[in-house]
Amino acid sequence: MSKVDSSILLPAPGHWLGVMGGGQLGRMFAQAANSLGYQVAVLEPAADCPAGQVAQHLVQAGYADAAGLDALAERCLAVTTEFENVPADSLSRLADKVFVAPNAHGVSVAQDRIAEKAFFVACAPKSGVMPAPHKVIASFDDVAAIEDALLPGILKTVRMGYDGKGQVRVKTREDVRAAFESMGQVTCLLEKMLPLAYEVSVLTARGADGASVVYPIAENVHRDGILFTTTVPGPNVSADCARKAQDAARAMVAELGYVGVLCIEFFVLDDGTLVVNEMAPRPHNSGHYTIDACVSSQFEQQVRAMAGLPLGEVRQHSPAVMLNILGDLWFDGDSNEPREPAWDRVLALPGACLHLYGKDDPRRGRKMGHLTLIAATLEQAQQQLLAACAILGIAP
Ligand code: ATP
Ligand code: MG
Repeated sequence: MSKVDSSILLPAPGHWLGVMGGGQLGRMFAQAANSLGYQVAVLEPAADCPAGQVAQHLVQAGYADAAGLDALAERCLAVTTEFENVPADSLSRLADKVFVAPNAHGVSVAQDRIAEKAFFVACAPKSGVMPAPHKVIASFDDVAAIEDALLPGILKTVRMGYDGKGQVRVKTREDVRAAFESMGQVTCLLEKMLPLAYEVSVLTARGADGASVVYPIAENVHRDGILFTTTVPGPNVSADCARKAQDAARAMVAELGYVGVLCIEFFVLDDGTLVVNEMAPRPHNSGHYTIDACVSSQFEQQVRAMAGLPLGEVRQHSPAVMLNILGDLWFDGDSNEPREPAWDRVLALPGACLHLYGKDDPRRGRKMGHLTLIAATLEQAQQQLLAACAILGIAP
């Protein structure tokens, strides 16, 4: 019998919750779980990892290691994941013994761009939004058959893409052919390049009882393919756009029968059209602002959802701007000698909430932490962002 049906077995505070993956999302999940009185076990192959540093127990094993998975299931009453590339089979194996949220189905749709796009298209009558026009590229014959309307476009690997990795911008069929070849002929998806006015994400959480909550819509700016800032409320977001995106997110999470936190990314085009891009079956970088600016954070919601507790209030009490802290900040110019950024000066800014992930090896492009600036007004939070950028040497 599945434990999904057996609310008696859902864990009360004091019990163990498990998380697949030891990165910063697992770390912030563990911190939220600890606040609610749970103990946390992390399954992760690396001995020293951001989540392992704060969790009460580390199962040091590969994500598909049967003995490791069984050890996690033995200790915990419910298990979640902090990254979408966790093998879906591992979640299924865990689900034979414990409550798993999100389940293998939701995760497997989100980790495969073909399944994800198919889901978005199937859900469109209910969600009211479509993904970008696209085509699967699995062979050179597929390249030859590309319609003109899909170019220029972006060729994306179907699996394992993140932070803009596994993507090539293409103008011609010849570009697609070369890019497909350079990516080792793995199955890809060609997406039409759309005229983006701005990008938003909607964070939602759904409980085991089917109740769901949707956070305020977040406006995201990327740099070099990596999230740079998230601003909430989004300065460009109209009330109509926010309502459409939130309604779409509600429809999608219900359609998936999903339990846990799900983040859906959207594009807003120059003509105002809302287009759904992709979804992450977990707390998301663009939702980090919820830790300091909302009543219940996205990580607390994940704990509540997997533990069968009521979901928390999503109300935002302070306008917020979140800035990702990348390893680049440790390096002055071309120097390869890392030095610590001036956190004392950053923390002197009113409303500065600094979160560092315990990574002792700064590298350019590596997410080391984030800084959320909260204030009484959005303008003040944006002013503090400019001040923080000036201190940290980031071009605003
Ligand atoms: P992440 O996991 O970090 O969100 P990703 O590597 O999975 O990113 P996408 O979110 O699909 O990749 O794309 C990264 C960025 O590239 C988008 O945020 C957007 O700025 C741009 N982009 C992606 N697809 C399109 C498109 N069809 N048209 C225009 N811009 C696009
Ligand atoms: Mg994305």
